[in-house]
Amino acid sequence: MLRNGVLFLDELPEFKRETLEVLRQPLEEGDITVARLQATYTYPARFMLLASMNPCPCGLLSDPAAACVCTPLQVQRYHHKISGPLLDRLDIFIEVPRLRFEEVTTTRVSEPSRSIKKRVEEAREKQRQRFNSDTVTCNAHMGSQHVQQYCALDAD
Ligand SMILES: [Zn+2]
Repeated sequence: MLRNGVLFLDELPEFKRETLEVLRQPLEEGDITVARLQATYTYPARFMLLASMNPCPCGLLSDPAAACVCTPLQVQRYHHKISGPLLDRLDIFIEVPRLRFEEVTTTRVSEPSRSIKKRVEEAREKQRQRFNSDTVTCNAHMGSQHVQQYCALDAD
């Protein structure tokens, strides 16, 4: 069982819909129940799901440098391979455009891992302080009551 790890599913629409639907329970509840003839077992299964997919079957729908060859119906079918309830359980969607050859091969200075680590540690410390007297340990585990308590919007 996957516990507190990262599950990365590349080409998400290529998985069988039934396979993806099985992920709904652990994404929602943090555990998974397996029913057999004689007994039912529940295992811990809290994890971070990362998934990738193309914008359409040919992959060029949003590409400014090449034309998509898919029909609107093909694009619609491709997107409908992932159910609404599963999409509801994903928190962040990011469109990542294709990089040009020069962008991939050019050497440039990026943010050092050390400074990224420092920012992550600072964010984790804020979470530790925020949830000091609570049962959750990070934002991903917050329920609706936690969101109301800790994420109240002000007038602005
Ligand atoms: Zn296409």
